[in-house]
Amino acid sequence: MTSDAKQTILVVDDEKTNLVLLNRILAPDYTILTAKSGQEALDRAMTVSPDLILLDIIMPDMDGFEIIKRLKDNADTQNIPVIFITGLHNEADEEKGLSLGALDYIIKPFRNAIVRARVRNHMQLVRHLHLIERLGLVDPLTDIANRRSFDDHMSREWGGAMRECEPISLLMMDIDKFKVYNDTYGHPQGDALLKAFARHVEAGARRPRDIAARIGGEEFVLLCPETDHAGALEIAEQLRAAVAAMTVPTVDKKPTTTTVSIGVATCRPTENDTPQAFIELADKRLYAAKTGGRNRVVGEGLG
Ligand code: GH3
Ligand code: MG
Ligand code: MG
Repeated sequence: MTSDAKQTILVVDDEKTNLVLLNRILAPDYTILTAKSGQEALDRAMTVSPDLILLDIIMPDMDGFEIIKRLKDNADTQNIPVIFITGLHNEADEEKGLSLGALDYIIKPFRNAIVRARVRNHMQLVRHLHLIERLGLVDPLTDIANRRSFDDHMSREWGGAMRECEPISLLMMDIDKFKVYNDTYGHPQGDALLKAFARHVEAGARRPRDIAARIGGEEFVLLCPETDHAGALEIAEQLRAAVAAMTVPTVDKKPTTTTVSIGVATCRPTENDTPQAFIELADKRLYAAKTGGRNRVVGEGLG
């Protein structure tokens, strides 16, 4: 999320007049979505992942307390902050709302300026939280996923592949003779090469669930769920060829080149397999690509 992108608020209320009023107060600063029932709120929260939910409590199909419980029970929605806006003005309800995980509790009728200020304060926190989350998951040099993010994706996709009985493929990559490149052209130029290389790995992530990550100094991975071995080898070979053809200019405009070695593994995970063994197999094949002469893809043996 860029810092100037408009944040999204889902306003949930069964009374049209309240929706119109809150929309009028908040629409200048945020993208406002609305839901008029509990079920609609849960569906929209799942599909659009708003930055904040403003939640009424008394509604005919499902009350706000039940809605927040269901949001908090679902991994996809549990981190969406919720503020109650309600006509229930006794302390027991307020305490209940806050103890169920709401960030704040605003009582109707409300003052427009106070709603605006409270929402703005919470949204600033949300923006910072998203930024911190992003910093923890993205490699600052190349702007692709880091090791931690790769580990998260791997465990999620591994579980998914096992449930769906789908193949999952991994490309393990290491730039060839990168130490020599650094020694020849200097560390900043080495960084420029890493950035250029990352763009190729990123381009190899063609499907929405593919994930390109930098997991070490000059070690990168591409994780491709629902991809068989032949498909993964094709991606690896294209990547290898694209990197071999790539030139990275130096400060004096002299173009430099590099190559990459790639180990490829594919698995249809069962209870007997582990992601660690899968990663190790791709790593061994990468090592075989290195000892076999570099600038090559190895996708068989050593299993
Ligand atoms: P091989 O073909 O066997 O992979 O040889 P190599 O020289 O690429 O491998 P080696 O592991 O010996 O060297 C990796 C080098 O990567 C050494 C280290 O200084 C450099 N390196 C690691 N992280 C960074 C970084 O963030 N920026 C730059 N410029 N260099 C880095
Ligand atoms: Mg290397
Ligand atoms: Mg290395």
